[in-house]
Amino acid sequence: MSIADNIKRLKNETETIKVQLIAVSKTKSEEEIKEAYDAGQRVFGENMVQELVDKYEHLPKDIEWHLIGHLQSNKVKYIAPFISMIQSVDSLKLLQEIDKHAQKHSRVIDCLLQVYIADEETKYGLGFDEIIELLRSEEFTVLKNVRIRGLMGIATNTENEKQINEEFYELKTFFDGIKQSFFRKDGSFDTLSMGMSSDYKLAIEQGSNMVRLGSTIFGQRVIKHWKNN
Ligand SMILES: *Cc1c(COP(=O)(O)O)cnc(C)c1O
Repeated sequence: MSIADNIKRLKNETETIKVQLIAVSKTKSEEEIKEAYDAGQRVFGENMVQELVDKYEHLPKDIEWHLIGHLQSNKVKYIAPFISMIQSVDSLKLLQEIDKHAQKHSRVIDCLLQVYIADEETKYGLGFDEIIELLRSEEFTVLKNVRIRGLMGIATNTENEKQINEEFYELKTFFDGIKQSFFRKDGSFDTLSMGMSSDYKLAIEQGSNMVRLGSTIFGQRVIKHWKNN
């Protein structure tokens, strides 16, 4: 199946059930992204700031770029002028930095708080308690140029479907609770980003409304530098 075929099939599959499809294009060339774009895809996810900025500069300007990887505070300035959504907010300090740079560009930047749900040491993200603490803090309530649109989570990389289901179920339950407690009057807290190529069907069953798919669209990523494609 070509990239274009994959996009058409997956757009069909997700649009009918109101799940947003993010095409994760990290390490993929501009030609490959263009093929997905020409098939109708407009939202792409990247995890490295420099790669994202370069692709933004070279590709059509109606693409919506999402940052899905860990973001260092000192790199916020490079993406603040154009980023559509930062899905990987994992500290109050980072959120304050995003707010500061968004203000400089007279923008409000949409963000997801990344929740730690996996049974692995390597994944970034906030614990349930830390998210509640952040949302309750005085420092958070004064921020005017960031908008929390929802939560993002990455399940454990395992074949054990029961475990993956439990992690997604917990995140969905937490999402509903946070919406009730902190965003009852705010319809823009509406996004639950969970599910990647290996587990997006389970994620959708558990209530995800945004899936981040890379290899299912573009094929396996080989370890190479994206500029040398
Ligand atoms: C790479 C990545 C994806 C996509 O992974 P695939 O398994 O290729 O679908 C999704 N989410 C995040 C946060 C990623 O880093």
